[in-house]
Order: sequence, then C-alpha cells, then structure tokens
Amino acid sequence: MSNPTDNLRKIRGSIPDHVTIVAVSKTVDPERIMELYNSGQRAFGENRAQELITKQPRLPGDIEWHFIGHLQTNKVKNIIPFVHMIQSVDSLKLLAEINRQAEKHGRTIDCLLQFHIATEETKFGLDWEEAQFLLKPENSAEMTHVRFRGVMGMATFTEDTTRVHREFRSLKEIFGRLKNTRFRDHDEFSVISMGMTSDYLIAIEEGSTMIRIGTAIFG
Ligand SMILES: *Cc1c(COP(=O)(O)O)cnc(C)c1O
Repeated sequence: MSNPTDNLRKIRGSIPDHVTIVAVSKTVDPERIMELYNSGQRAFGENRAQELITKQPRLPGDIEWHFIGHLQTNKVKNIIPFVHMIQSVDSLKLLAEINRQAEKHGRTIDCLLQFHIATEETKFGLDWEEAQFLLKPENSAEMTHVRFRGVMGMATFTEDTTRVHREFRSLKEIFGRLKNTRFRDHDEFSVISMGMTSDYLIAIEEGSTMIRIGTAIFG
C-alpha cells in the first residue's frame, strides 16, 4: 500500500472513466508528489494556502492545483497566479476577493461552491439560502473573473453508510437545482466534487464526478 503510483492505478481501475481523481497531497513532500506526477497524474489538491505557496514553486508548472480547504481572503492573492480550481468557495466575500485578484492577474478562476451537507458542525460550507444570496445577479453576475464549475461537499465521517449516502444525495440534488435554474445554459457547470478515501465509492454511486483522495494514495 505504500507506492502512490500503484495505489492510484488501482483506484483508477475500479471507478468509471468520467470520474476525475484529485490526488490530495497535503503533508506530502514534493519528492513523493513527483513520483505520482511522473506516472502522469496532474491534478493535485491542497488544503492550506501556506503549504501550497511553499510547494508550488518546487514542482512542475503544469500541475493543476486544486485548493480544497477553508480559504481566508487575505491568502487569496498568493495562490491566484497559479491555482487551477478553488473548490471551497463558501462566502460572497471570498468570491469577491477571488474575482478581484484574478482580474489583477488577467486570469479567470474555476470555482466550486462548497455546501455544508454533513451534520457535523465543524465542516465549512454554504446552505441553500446562502448560495442563493451569493448567486443573486446583483451580487455576482458582474464577477467576470470567476467561472462557476459546480459544487463540492464533505459527508459526515461515520460508519453509518445510509447517512453518508443521504448526504451525498443531497449535494447531487443541490447541483441539479442550480443546474436547472441559474446555470441552465452553462455547460461548464458540470462538476460534483464529493468523495474521499473513506467514502468515494458511495459518492460515485450518488453521482460524484470528482473525488479527492489522499490517504488511499499516499498512505
Ligand atoms: C484531506 C482532504 C481530502 C482527502 O482525504 P483522505 O481521507 O485522505 O482521502 C479530501 N477533501 C478535503 C477537503 C480534504 O481536506
């Protein structure tokens, strides 16, 4: 179980082709990230801005960095020059700062809206009303440097698989409601990022298109 390349290959072989795997490399050093890079993996995920800022210059420029952790607005400017996707948009204030910094750098940043689907209080994310507020035309329609690509969420960490199924299903439903309304004519709004080491098979059953895997790859 200690070879990341073999671990990734096994996971890849056991899931549908349309599901993207983001290799979560938090706490993993650049040398081990390079092993996986050399086997062809390009999508990597980090959850701390400072760690990402330190690692990124030491690794190849064509890595697609996914930011998956809670992001403070004062850290946004440091990751905007290179980040591929910010999966953890959970406030209008954060979105506005991403847009502002992206404009400065002449970039448009792919974003996911993070929803709070777990019953655990500790997890971040929007609820439906907060998302509706953020998506109001007067709040975000003029943010031309962010591109809404879909939704992200984390289920409760529990053995109760029925509950995990239910939480992932609720994110799929949220995605569907957004897709049928605000994003009806937006083909790029297509990502449902859900599923980690302990629950990615359940997430895929419930419609995940992107899983974020750390432990099952890097140990
Ligand atoms: C750490 C982390 C993951 C990966 O977790 P594993 O259980 O190690 O696969 C996925 N998503 C987020 C947001 C994380 O912080």
